[in-house]
Amino acid sequence: LREDKAPKDVKPEGPPAVVISSRERVVFPDAKATKGDLADYYAAIAPLLLDHAAMRPISLVRCPQGRAKKCFFQKHDHGGLGDAVKPIAIAEKKGGKEDYIYIDDATGLLQCVQMGTIEFHGWGSRAPKVERPDRLVFDLDPDEGLSFADVKTAALDLRDQLAGIGLESFAMLTGGKGVHIVVPLAPGHSWDAHKDFAKRFAEALSMDQPDRFVATMSKAKRKGKIFIDWLRNQRGATAVMPYSARARSGAPVAVPLAWNELKKAETAQPFSIADAAKLLRRAKSKTLEGWGEADQKLPDV
Ligand code: ATP
Ligand code: MN
Ligand code: MN
Repeated sequence: LREDKAPKDVKPEGPPAVVISSRERVVFPDAKATKGDLADYYAAIAPLLLDHAAMRPISLVRCPQGRAKKCFFQKHDHGGLGDAVKPIAIAEKKGGKEDYIYIDDATGLLQCVQMGTIEFHGWGSRAPKVERPDRLVFDLDPDEGLSFADVKTAALDLRDQLAGIGLESFAMLTGGKGVHIVVPLAPGHSWDAHKDFAKRFAEALSMDQPDRFVATMSKAKRKGKIFIDWLRNQRGATAVMPYSARARSGAPVAVPLAWNELKKAETAQPFSIADAAKLLRRAKSKTLEGWGEADQKLPDV
């Protein structure tokens, strides 16, 4: 997979001592990538993913038989994932508490991978302050038929609109078809405040340019438009984490991009799990310095 890949049966260097079983099992038939390849990818980029995902309640997309077979979304702790995959009790709307899960190190990350995880999704808040979100995410979902160029233009428009109200934002390719616009915020406001803000922002944009944007879930109204999915900002919702692999054809990964890189990007899925070394180099470059960081709070409106 990579030129620097460790020889078979030799564990990759580094701290996580997680034994990955069935390394030769094919997880991505199209990309001919195995569970071992996926584990090597995650071991290599662990610090990058953890920078964003550590301490967040996470949901896992697990595909124990590989991505082409049945996958399931797991958000609760049922035990059995590993001792470094930690439970966090969170109050349910209907009353009572449920154990969600979080990780804070590479061991936890790889224990999830050992248990068939391909994707890592996270809440917009971190333990222990799970009721105080620290980011907004606008998930741009293009209708079929729209080009990647349309998505890029939309992302840049959102950036400008957000800048207009004093908010710096960052772009991430999801590894699927779209882009997530991430707005880091000092935790302080409630989930309801975040959700209301995101809803009003998305609705204002779709009212201003109704031929390009739509802010409602309804599939029928999306024809030829980009759905600004603001519902990622409600309590309990998740968004795919930067550097997560995706259970999609070609083993793509979600990647942060600088705005000038997004302008030049030719495809929605430029990186795959074969690109760990490149992603590590990029992450240390000037281009990505400060990605996802801004000293700002939700405007009072
Ligand atoms: P794309 O760019 O292809 O849209 P995406 O990751 O944005 O990729 P969406 O379908 O738009 O995919 O979903 C947005 C987010 O909603 C996901 O990243 C995920 O965290 C969450 N999500 C999607 N499907 C589910 C599901 N079945 N259960 C819970 N959360 C989900
Ligand atoms: Mn999306
Ligand atoms: Mn969506």
